[in-house]
Amino acid sequence: MERTVSDLYELLEVPRDASPEEIKRAYRRQARRHHPDAGGDEEAFKQITHAFQVLSDPQRRARYDRFGDDGTPSTRGNGDPFGFGGAGFGSVGDVIDAFFGAGFGGGARPGATRRDAPGRDVLVGVELTLEEVVAGTRRDVEVEVATACETCGGSGSLTGGSSRCRECGGAGQVQRVVRTAFGQLASAAPCGACGGSGRRIEDPCTGCGGEGRRTQRRTVTVEVPPGVEDGNRLRVAGAGEAGRHGAQAGDLFVEVHVQEHELFERDGRTLYAEISIPATQAALGGTLAVPTIDGDEVEVPVPSGTQPGDVLTVRRAGVPMPGGGRRGDLQLVVRVEVPTDLDTAQRELLERLAELRDEPLSSSGQGLFTRLRDAFQR
Ligand SMILES: [Zn+2]
Ligand SMILES: [Zn+2]
Repeated sequence: MERTVSDLYELLEVPRDASPEEIKRAYRRQARRHHPDAGGDEEAFKQITHAFQVLSDPQRRARYDRFGDDGTPSTRGNGDPFGFGGAGFGSVGDVIDAFFGAGFGGGARPGATRRDAPGRDVLVGVELTLEEVVAGTRRDVEVEVATACETCGGSGSLTGGSSRCRECGGAGQVQRVVRTAFGQLASAAPCGACGGSGRRIEDPCTGCGGEGRRTQRRTVTVEVPPGVEDGNRLRVAGAGEAGRHGAQAGDLFVEVHVQEHELFERDGRTLYAEISIPATQAALGGTLAVPTIDGDEVEVPVPSGTQPGDVLTVRRAGVPMPGGGRRGDLQLVVRVEVPTDLDTAQRELLERLAELRDEPLSSSGQGLFTRLRDAFQR
């Protein structure tokens, strides 16, 4: 559908002297018709949303009436004709959320001015097991933050109306004159009456007292991708504190803490574990069943003549790269157990072995000294 209408009043199909309430009703009607989720045209929806944003703001509407310009703040400077600050189409959906009460969202809402403080970021921690790090997981985290008020959709007003603050004349700041030893000093301070927004909320919402948000306990589901490291922070955009009067919400950061594992130690993508094998197996060789971090068991060949400190590698049984990709290896560091509880038969067998190998049980240690001397003479 090609829309050639550029006049904002025509877009919303309202007369030029339409009241704020008429504009709001017209927008609701058009938004329902054009909302992309309901099969509407995205471009048309953006246009009517933009028209509503301009015409619902008394200052921007007045500027539009006088100059025909839409009052989009040029300071955004990113060529975003819809004044969404480059936040993309998602925030248009949030505008609708604000009206039809579909939970919280990250975008700036039509009632917010640039001076309304955005919500703060929130940081929470989660404890993960090493198993969860390897497999990736999903966690519900509880946060207690200021959330967009459902009663007023975040605008702070029951009717969506606001007017210029009388205290500061809409500037959002007041001049304070302080008498000092050097004379009078004037300084600008945020206006206490409007909190710096420059607007006075009409018909303050009973749910939030006009703030547009209230503190609530909320559960946020966080996707933890495989391979995260201790101290990593995962960002959930827009899930932080709601902005004042529907301004941009902050982000939620989830800091990862990885618990120590009783078997495995991690270094990047590599897992290390210590395994003990009997001296006989070290000498003769064999196989060993080893548990992996995935909860499986793998058969690891033990070569004959394996020495203490040798490393046996199980490929791809380590930690994945963050964001997917090749897994690291599991490195098994060998400890050799020397038997300590020999019975008579075992002792006799070992003595026979020592004899066969010409390894006298009492020696002068000459072999060692020979090697040492050789080393010095080299
Ligand atoms: Zn409210
Ligand atoms: Zn004020």
